[in-house]
Amino acid sequence: MSLPRVVAVAAGSPADRAGLQPGDEIMAMDGQLPRDIIQYQLLADQASLDLELRRGGLERALTVRREGNEPLGIEVDAALFDRVRTCDNHCEFCFIHQLPKGMRRSLYTRDDDYRLSFLYGNFTTLTRFTEADLERVVTEGLSPLWVSIHATDPEVRSQMLRNRRGATSLRWLRALLDHGIEVHGQVVVCPGVNDGAVLDDTLAGVLDRFPELASVACVPLGVSRFNTEETMRPHRSEEAAATLDLVEYWQAVFSACLGRPLVHAADELYLMAGRDVPPLERYGALAQHDNGVGMIAAFRAAFAGRGVARGDGPSGFFQSVDGAPAAGYRAPRTAGDEVSVSLRPRPDAPVTVLTGEYAAPVLAPLVAAVRPDAEIMAVPNAFFGGNIAVAGLLTGADLHAALAGAPAGRRYLLPDVCLSGGRFLDGGSPADLPVPVEIVAANGEALRRALGPGGRR
Ligand code: SF4
Repeated sequence: MSLPRVVAVAAGSPADRAGLQPGDEIMAMDGQLPRDIIQYQLLADQASLDLELRRGGLERALTVRREGNEPLGIEVDAALFDRVRTCDNHCEFCFIHQLPKGMRRSLYTRDDDYRLSFLYGNFTTLTRFTEADLERVVTEGLSPLWVSIHATDPEVRSQMLRNRRGATSLRWLRALLDHGIEVHGQVVVCPGVNDGAVLDDTLAGVLDRFPELASVACVPLGVSRFNTEETMRPHRSEEAAATLDLVEYWQAVFSACLGRPLVHAADELYLMAGRDVPPLERYGALAQHDNGVGMIAAFRAAFAGRGVARGDGPSGFFQSVDGAPAAGYRAPRTAGDEVSVSLRPRPDAPVTVLTGEYAAPVLAPLVAAVRPDAEIMAVPNAFFGGNIAVAGLLTGADLHAALAGAPAGRRYLLPDVCLSGGRFLDGGSPADLPVPVEIVAANGEALRRALGPGGRR
């Protein structure tokens, strides 16, 4: 168990008025040491709070008083103060097993912790879920949660997770739904393993056993060049198309039975199949937007100036690994929504939009319509290799290679999804790149704005 450490105190906040300082370690809040930020928030949510602190090796006590609903004004250094619950599965499709050596340690954490599911939208298989966890989820209203289903057939699921508890742990999903917890599901579709008839059976199982699920996303298997599992391979185009056909068939069934389509395919599957994605209205609340479901449709709408409200869903692979500021719990990708660098070229300078190979053909017609002079640079992901082509997994090394020899005097726009806390997955930072880049929030509205004067009509 570690002590929550204060990393920032908002000026003028109750914590500031009471004398808290960055670096203070919280030993107790009203006599209790919170085990995670969920309990911390509950304890912090009172008009008067007695804190026991450790500062510079000395212990001290102080009382924080809040007026009305004003926030406490503290950011702490982590989301969990006890140990993260790691997973006991050995999935052959696990992307963490497909990482190269030498990345920062936190990226190798295989968590299966319902608290990170609640806080960040990390998917949990529930194989380590317990009765006590269920009680806490229900009493504290930890909803929504995000559950990896993969297959509803017990044997297939336990084989995919390589864990016999995988055969039975979906009973907890039933229990969560019985208690009114909102749950979103995910199926990582692995060609030849749980696609085709198995996926058909899984979606039938969802209708039969878990119809209260808020959404189910079918996402394709990602295979990096470090994959060592022989049975794991990228989808062929016709396999992606068959998966889409199946998903669309089940959307019709769910719509007829439940009044909502429930299941959606990730945008990547449409790109793999060479098909355009469905219109935005087919995605409902866009609950799994950041899981790559409906992202293209939402981006297009926002680029066209039609604001899109979307659910507060999973925050993307690796977004939960490095700390948890109090505000919204989530680690910021950058210091702000859009960050410009020094030596920024003139706003009317020619523009290069950097992105992954999947997004490039999607962005090209949008950008060309408003800035015909702009260039889209599709950056190959040599770092991960395989079929990894989403912008969110671009690394500093890939961008460095793509920008070597890039002419000065242009503006280079980089989506913030490849950053977490201002760093790339391989540890580099935008300042290390050969040319200055502007970090742009990965949404259509921000890109349209960032394209500059030529981008306004
Ligand atoms: S449950 Fe998730 S983290 Fe654990 S082995 Fe499977 S894919 Fe990897």
